[in-house]
Amino acid sequence: MKIHHLNAGSMRPIGVPDGFVCHVLLIETDTGLVLVDTGLGLRDIADIGPRFGPSRFLMGLALEEAETAIRQVAALGFDPKDVRDIILTHFDADHTGGLADFPWANVHLTSQEHDAVLHPKSQLEKSRYLASQRDHNPILVPHTLSPGDKWREFSSTKELSEIAPGIVLIHIPGHTRGHAGVAVNTGEHWVLHIGDCFYHHGQVDGSGNVPLALRGMEQVVAADRGQVSANHERLSALWAARQPDLVMINTHDRQLLERARNIPA
Ligand SMILES: [Zn+2]
Repeated sequence: MKIHHLNAGSMRPIGVPDGFVCHVLLIETDTGLVLVDTGLGLRDIADIGPRFGPSRFLMGLALEEAETAIRQVAALGFDPKDVRDIILTHFDADHTGGLADFPWANVHLTSQEHDAVLHPKSQLEKSRYLASQRDHNPILVPHTLSPGDKWREFSSTKELSEIAPGIVLIHIPGHTRGHAGVAVNTGEHWVLHIGDCFYHHGQVDGSGNVPLALRGMEQVVAADRGQVSANHERLSALWAARQPDLVMINTHDRQLLERARNIPA
């Protein structure tokens, strides 16, 4: 499978000098196109207020139409209608904004995230899952992951073979209840999209230099801070192991996006 690494939403949150990207995967499979997350979409560009809530004032959103996934899919010469499946790491607005641009697509997520979106429990969940992100009635496909199914050191995984063999959904809670990583086998290597399990490469590669504002933001929006810390430790160990066939990326780190783009497909 060939993977295109897209930035579907530049941001400059207060106190984060490098800014944020929204790293979205566009995967070419034998039967169609798959997106991992969507970044921001055309409805966000048109009217961001109801789509993002008050956090838009902190996030410094660029809101460039050319960055939306649907415009980039078309610019690459594909028919957006061929995007048949979208796999979400989680349902925060900066990951789901483009869903409404692909209303025909099946939207895959963990059953835990599906439950959190439809039945929010905490005040944080009630405020983060905005109804405007799903008022186009997306086709949600929740997946129950089996604790016994392992992918590398992760348990609670499921190969989404109904989309394509070699795409694995991995439940990694912490940022949200049902947060997931998505591993994709290109044939040459695996790309592990770890979503918002960490924001900055310095949180896992030992290089430090993590902006304080970013650490604070991560804590404020965490569903479970203990799990977030545990995920940092676990992903730091995975990073340190330097598995030669593994490329780890997250959503918002610009350096990791550039690094992934420079790896031959
Ligand atoms: Zn995010």
